[in-house]
Amino acid sequence: VTVKPYIGRFAPSPTGALHAGSLVAALASWLDARAHGGRWLLRIEDTDTPRCVCGADREILRQLDVLGLHPDEPPLWQSQREAFYQQALDGLVQRGLAYACGCTRRDIDAALQAQGHAHQRHEERVYPGTCRDGLHGKPARAWRLRCGTEAAPVRIAWHDRRLGAQAQDLTHQVGDFVLRRADGIWAYQLAVVVDDALQGVTHVVRGEDLADNTPRQIWLQRQLGAPQPAYLHLPLVRDARGEKLSKQHGAPPLALDDPLAALQAAAQALELPRVEAGEVVSWLSGATAAWARRWAIET
Ligand code: GLU
Repeated sequence: VTVKPYIGRFAPSPTGALHAGSLVAALASWLDARAHGGRWLLRIEDTDTPRCVCGADREILRQLDVLGLHPDEPPLWQSQREAFYQQALDGLVQRGLAYACGCTRRDIDAALQAQGHAHQRHEERVYPGTCRDGLHGKPARAWRLRCGTEAAPVRIAWHDRRLGAQAQDLTHQVGDFVLRRADGIWAYQLAVVVDDALQGVTHVVRGEDLADNTPRQIWLQRQLGAPQPAYLHLPLVRDARGEKLSKQHGAPPLALDDPLAALQAAAQALELPRVEAGEVVSWLSGATAAWARRWAIET
Protein backbone atom coordinates (compact mmCIF):
# COMPACT_ATOMS: atom_id res chain seq x y z
CA VAL A 1 0.00 0.00 0.00
CA THR A 2 1.16 3.52 -0.70
CA VAL A 3 0.02 6.04 1.85
CA LYS A 4 -0.30 9.67 0.80
CA PRO A 5 2.40 11.63 2.66
CA TYR A 6 1.03 13.87 5.36
CA ILE A 7 1.40 17.61 4.78
CA GLY A 8 0.01 19.97 7.40
CA ARG A 9 0.27 23.70 7.88
CA PHE A 10 -0.18 26.64 10.20
CA ALA A 11 -1.57 29.69 8.43
CA PRO A 12 -1.65 32.74 10.71
CA SER A 13 -2.89 36.15 9.62
CA PRO A 14 -0.26 38.73 10.63
CA THR A 15 -2.73 40.99 12.41
CA GLY A 16 -0.60 40.81 15.54
CA ALA A 17 1.79 38.55 17.43
CA LEU A 18 0.72 35.04 18.45
CA HIS A 19 -1.39 34.92 21.61
CA ALA A 20 -2.40 32.00 23.82
CA GLY A 21 -5.27 31.14 21.44
CA SER A 22 -3.29 31.14 18.20
CA LEU A 23 -0.53 29.09 19.84
CA VAL A 24 -3.10 26.32 20.34
CA ALA A 25 -3.64 26.10 16.56
CA ALA A 26 0.10 26.32 15.88
CA LEU A 27 0.95 23.61 18.40
CA ALA A 28 -1.88 21.25 17.44
CA SER A 29 -1.07 21.45 13.72
CA TRP A 30 2.62 20.84 14.50
CA LEU A 31 1.87 17.89 16.83
CA ASP A 32 -0.51 16.30 14.34
CA ALA A 33 2.11 16.55 11.57
CA ARG A 34 4.84 15.11 13.79
CA ALA A 35 2.61 12.31 15.15
CA HIS A 36 1.87 11.31 11.55
CA GLY A 37 5.54 11.49 10.57
CA GLY A 38 4.53 14.28 8.19
CA ARG A 39 5.70 17.70 7.11
CA TRP A 40 4.57 20.99 8.63
CA LEU A 41 4.41 24.19 6.56
CA LEU A 42 3.98 27.79 7.54
CA ARG A 43 1.98 30.27 5.48
CA ILE A 44 1.54 33.93 6.31
CA GLU A 45 -2.01 34.90 5.29
CA ASP A 46 -1.51 38.57 4.52
CA THR A 47 -3.95 39.16 1.65
CA ASP A 48 -6.09 41.50 3.76
CA THR A 49 -3.40 44.19 3.85
CA PRO A 50 -5.47 46.82 5.71
CA ARG A 51 -5.74 44.40 8.66
CA CYS A 52 -2.06 43.40 8.66
CA VAL A 53 0.20 44.89 11.30
CA CYS A 54 3.64 45.85 10.10
CA GLY A 55 6.26 43.45 11.50
CA ALA A 56 3.72 41.00 12.95
CA ASP A 57 4.81 38.33 10.46
CA ARG A 58 8.43 38.50 11.61
CA GLU A 59 7.31 38.46 15.24
CA ILE A 60 5.21 35.31 14.64
CA LEU A 61 8.19 33.58 12.99
CA ARG A 62 10.37 34.55 15.95
CA GLN A 63 7.81 33.28 18.48
CA LEU A 64 7.45 29.92 16.69
CA ASP A 65 11.22 29.60 16.58
CA VAL A 66 11.57 30.16 20.34
CA LEU A 67 8.81 27.59 20.92
CA GLY A 68 10.68 25.01 18.84
CA LEU A 69 7.98 24.87 16.15
CA HIS A 70 10.16 24.91 13.04
CA PRO A 71 8.59 24.59 9.58
CA ASP A 72 9.95 22.02 7.14
CA GLU A 73 10.08 24.53 4.28
CA PRO A 74 10.64 28.28 4.09
CA PRO A 75 7.37 30.10 4.87
CA LEU A 76 5.14 31.48 2.11
CA TRP A 77 3.54 34.92 2.08
CA GLN A 78 0.15 35.08 0.36
CA SER A 79 0.80 38.67 -0.73
CA GLN A 80 3.41 37.27 -3.14
CA ARG A 81 1.05 34.72 -4.67
CA GLU A 82 -1.56 36.88 -6.41
CA ALA A 83 -0.75 35.36 -9.82
CA PHE A 84 -1.94 31.95 -8.58
CA TYR A 85 -5.20 33.40 -7.25
CA GLN A 86 -5.81 35.27 -10.51
CA GLN A 87 -5.17 32.10 -12.51
CA ALA A 88 -7.68 30.16 -10.39
CA LEU A 89 -10.31 32.89 -10.72
CA ASP A 90 -9.77 33.18 -14.49
CA GLY A 91 -10.32 29.43 -14.86
CA LEU A 92 -13.54 29.55 -12.85
CA VAL A 93 -14.84 32.50 -14.84
CA GLN A 94 -13.98 30.85 -18.17
CA ARG A 95 -15.97 27.80 -17.14
CA GLY A 96 -18.92 29.94 -16.03
CA LEU A 97 -18.51 28.91 -12.38
CA ALA A 98 -17.67 32.40 -11.11
CA TYR A 99 -18.95 35.78 -12.24
CA ALA A 100 -18.43 39.51 -11.85
CA CYS A 101 -20.76 41.30 -9.45
CA GLY A 102 -21.54 45.01 -9.64
CA CYS A 103 -23.62 45.25 -6.45
CA THR A 104 -22.80 47.63 -3.66
CA ARG A 105 -23.80 46.69 -0.13
CA ARG A 106 -26.74 49.06 -0.53
CA ASP A 107 -27.85 47.30 -3.75
CA ILE A 108 -27.78 43.97 -1.92
CA ASP A 109 -29.80 45.34 1.00
CA ALA A 110 -32.38 46.80 -1.38
CA ALA A 111 -32.72 43.53 -3.30
CA LEU A 112 -33.11 41.53 -0.09
CA GLN A 113 -35.69 43.99 1.18
CA ALA A 114 -37.64 43.64 -2.05
CA GLN A 115 -37.58 39.85 -1.53
CA GLY A 116 -38.83 40.29 2.03
CA HIS A 117 -35.51 39.40 3.70
CA ALA A 118 -34.84 42.74 5.33
CA HIS A 119 -32.73 43.30 8.44
CA GLN A 120 -30.49 40.29 8.14
CA ARG A 121 -27.19 40.66 9.94
CA HIS A 122 -24.36 41.29 7.51
CA GLU A 123 -22.73 37.87 8.05
CA GLU A 124 -26.05 36.12 7.54
CA ARG A 125 -27.03 37.81 4.31
CA VAL A 126 -27.34 35.47 1.37
CA TYR A 127 -26.45 37.21 -1.89
CA PRO A 128 -29.74 37.63 -3.79
CA GLY A 129 -28.16 36.64 -7.12
CA THR A 130 -28.67 39.98 -8.87
CA CYS A 131 -25.58 39.69 -11.14
CA ARG A 132 -25.77 35.96 -11.80
CA ASP A 133 -26.76 36.49 -15.41
CA GLY A 134 -24.90 39.71 -16.10
CA LEU A 135 -23.95 43.07 -14.71
CA HIS A 136 -26.99 44.91 -16.15
CA GLY A 137 -24.74 47.81 -17.18
CA LYS A 138 -23.07 48.23 -13.80
CA PRO A 139 -19.27 48.15 -13.54
CA ALA A 140 -17.72 44.96 -12.13
CA ARG A 141 -16.79 45.26 -8.45
CA ALA A 142 -16.35 41.86 -6.83
CA TRP A 143 -16.17 38.30 -8.15
CA ARG A 144 -18.44 35.57 -6.82
CA LEU A 145 -18.61 31.77 -6.98
CA ARG A 146 -21.90 30.15 -7.98
CA CYS A 147 -23.33 28.01 -5.17
CA GLY A 148 -26.27 26.13 -6.66
CA THR A 149 -29.80 27.17 -7.47
CA GLU A 150 -33.24 26.81 -5.95
CA ALA A 151 -33.81 23.86 -8.29
CA ALA A 152 -30.41 22.28 -7.60
CA PRO A 153 -29.15 23.45 -4.21
CA VAL A 154 -25.63 22.58 -3.04
CA ARG A 155 -25.51 20.69 0.23
CA ILE A 156 -22.02 19.93 1.54
CA ALA A 157 -21.64 17.03 3.97
CA TRP A 158 -18.21 16.63 5.52
CA HIS A 159 -16.42 14.97 8.39
CA ASP A 160 -14.43 16.63 11.14
CA ARG A 161 -12.07 14.49 13.22
CA ARG A 162 -13.34 16.08 16.45
CA LEU A 163 -16.83 17.38 15.62
CA GLY A 164 -17.93 14.37 13.56
CA ALA A 165 -20.49 14.61 10.77
CA GLN A 166 -21.19 18.16 9.58
CA ALA A 167 -23.39 19.57 6.82
CA GLN A 168 -24.42 22.88 5.34
CA ASP A 169 -26.83 23.95 2.62
CA LEU A 170 -24.58 26.43 0.83
CA THR A 171 -27.27 27.70 -1.50
CA HIS A 172 -29.66 28.76 1.24
CA GLN A 173 -27.32 29.47 4.14
CA VAL A 174 -24.42 31.17 2.35
CA GLY A 175 -25.20 31.92 -1.30
CA ASP A 176 -22.76 32.92 -4.05
CA PHE A 177 -19.76 34.06 -2.02
CA VAL A 178 -16.97 36.50 -2.81
CA LEU A 179 -13.64 35.30 -4.23
CA ARG A 180 -12.21 38.73 -4.91
CA ARG A 181 -13.51 41.75 -3.06
CA ALA A 182 -14.53 45.09 -4.55
CA ASP A 183 -11.36 46.64 -3.11
CA GLY A 184 -9.29 44.12 -5.12
CA ILE A 185 -8.35 42.04 -2.08
CA TRP A 186 -8.36 38.27 -2.55
CA ALA A 187 -10.89 36.64 -0.26
CA TYR A 188 -9.61 34.27 2.42
CA GLN A 189 -11.70 31.43 0.91
CA LEU A 190 -9.98 31.60 -2.46
CA ALA A 191 -6.44 32.14 -1.19
CA VAL A 192 -6.65 29.37 1.41
CA VAL A 193 -8.04 26.79 -1.03
CA VAL A 194 -5.58 27.62 -3.83
CA ASP A 195 -2.60 27.52 -1.48
CA ASP A 196 -3.63 24.36 0.38
CA ALA A 197 -3.97 22.69 -3.04
CA LEU A 198 -0.69 24.02 -4.48
CA GLN A 199 1.21 23.15 -1.30
CA GLY A 200 -0.26 19.65 -1.29
CA VAL A 201 -1.82 20.05 2.16
CA THR A 202 -3.48 16.79 3.23
CA HIS A 203 -4.56 17.75 6.77
CA VAL A 204 -6.02 21.02 8.04
CA VAL A 205 -5.88 21.58 11.81
CA ARG A 206 -7.25 24.95 12.97
CA GLY A 207 -9.60 26.70 15.39
CA GLU A 208 -13.27 25.83 15.60
CA ASP A 209 -14.19 29.42 14.68
CA LEU A 210 -13.18 28.53 11.11
CA ALA A 211 -15.33 25.38 10.91
CA ASP A 212 -18.23 27.19 9.24
CA ASN A 213 -15.91 28.24 6.37
CA THR A 214 -15.16 24.61 5.55
CA PRO A 215 -18.21 23.86 3.35
CA ARG A 216 -17.38 26.89 1.19
CA GLN A 217 -13.80 25.70 0.90
CA ILE A 218 -14.86 22.16 0.01
CA TRP A 219 -17.20 23.48 -2.69
CA LEU A 220 -14.41 25.64 -4.10
CA GLN A 221 -12.02 22.64 -4.05
CA ARG A 222 -14.55 20.68 -6.08
CA GLN A 223 -14.92 23.51 -8.61
CA LEU A 224 -11.13 23.73 -8.97
CA GLY A 225 -10.61 19.97 -9.08
CA ALA A 226 -8.48 20.14 -5.92
CA PRO A 227 -8.34 17.26 -3.41
CA GLN A 228 -10.16 17.62 -0.10
CA PRO A 229 -7.91 17.54 2.98
CA ALA A 230 -8.88 15.93 6.29
CA TYR A 231 -10.18 18.45 8.84
CA LEU A 232 -9.69 18.84 12.56
CA HIS A 233 -11.23 21.91 14.22
CA LEU A 234 -9.89 22.60 17.70
CA PRO A 235 -11.75 23.80 20.80
CA LEU A 236 -11.48 27.56 21.19
CA VAL A 237 -9.56 29.09 24.04
CA ARG A 238 -11.76 31.46 26.02
CA ASP A 239 -10.85 34.20 28.44
CA ALA A 240 -12.29 34.60 31.95
CA ARG A 241 -15.44 36.23 30.50
CA GLY A 242 -16.01 33.31 28.14
CA GLU A 243 -15.03 35.32 25.05
CA LYS A 244 -12.91 33.72 22.36
CA LEU A 245 -9.30 34.77 22.85
CA SER A 246 -8.55 37.02 19.91
CA LYS A 247 -6.56 40.06 18.95
CA GLN A 248 -9.83 41.98 18.50
CA HIS A 249 -10.72 41.24 22.12
CA GLY A 250 -7.27 42.35 23.22
CA ALA A 251 -5.56 39.03 23.96
CA PRO A 252 -2.00 39.88 25.03
CA PRO A 253 0.89 38.65 22.88
CA LEU A 254 2.42 35.41 24.07
CA ALA A 255 5.15 35.91 26.66
CA LEU A 256 8.26 34.03 25.61
CA ASP A 257 10.25 34.32 28.80
CA ASP A 258 8.97 30.85 29.73
CA PRO A 259 8.32 28.87 26.51
CA LEU A 260 7.61 25.65 28.42
CA ALA A 261 4.83 27.30 30.40
CA ALA A 262 3.29 28.69 27.19
CA LEU A 263 3.44 25.27 25.52
CA GLN A 264 2.01 23.56 28.61
CA ALA A 265 -0.95 25.97 28.70
CA ALA A 266 -1.66 25.31 25.02
CA ALA A 267 -1.44 21.56 25.61
CA GLN A 268 -3.92 21.88 28.45
CA ALA A 269 -6.37 23.66 26.14
CA LEU A 270 -5.94 20.66 23.83
CA GLU A 271 -6.81 18.33 26.72
CA LEU A 272 -3.39 16.68 26.67
CA PRO A 273 -1.93 15.31 29.90
CA ARG A 274 0.89 17.25 31.54
CA VAL A 275 4.29 16.62 29.97
CA GLU A 276 7.27 16.76 32.30
CA ALA A 277 10.38 18.00 30.53
CA GLY A 278 13.32 20.26 31.23
CA GLU A 279 13.49 21.89 27.81
CA VAL A 280 11.45 22.56 24.70
CA VAL A 281 12.71 19.75 22.44
CA SER A 282 12.00 16.97 24.93
CA TRP A 283 8.69 18.57 25.92
CA LEU A 284 7.64 18.56 22.25
CA SER A 285 8.52 14.92 21.78
CA GLY A 286 6.57 13.98 24.94
CA ALA A 287 3.62 16.03 23.72
CA THR A 288 3.79 14.37 20.28
CA ALA A 289 3.46 10.95 21.93
CA ALA A 290 0.54 12.22 24.04
CA TRP A 291 -1.14 13.66 20.92
CA ALA A 292 -0.73 10.38 19.04
CA ARG A 293 -2.43 8.52 21.92
CA ARG A 294 -5.19 11.13 22.22
CA TRP A 295 -6.05 10.88 18.50
CA ALA A 296 -5.23 7.17 18.10
CA ILE A 297 -2.55 7.85 15.49
CA GLU A 298 -0.32 4.89 14.75
CA THR A 299 3.28 5.98 14.95
N1 GLU B 1 -5.44 32.83 8.41
C1 GLU B 1 -6.52 32.29 9.19
C2 GLU B 1 -6.52 32.87 10.57
O1 GLU B 1 -5.47 33.28 11.05
C3 GLU B 1 -6.43 30.79 9.34
C4 GLU B 1 -6.62 30.09 8.06
C5 GLU B 1 -6.76 28.59 8.16
O2 GLU B 1 -6.14 27.95 9.03
O3 GLU B 1 -7.44 28.05 7.28
O4 GLU B 1 -7.57 32.94 11.18
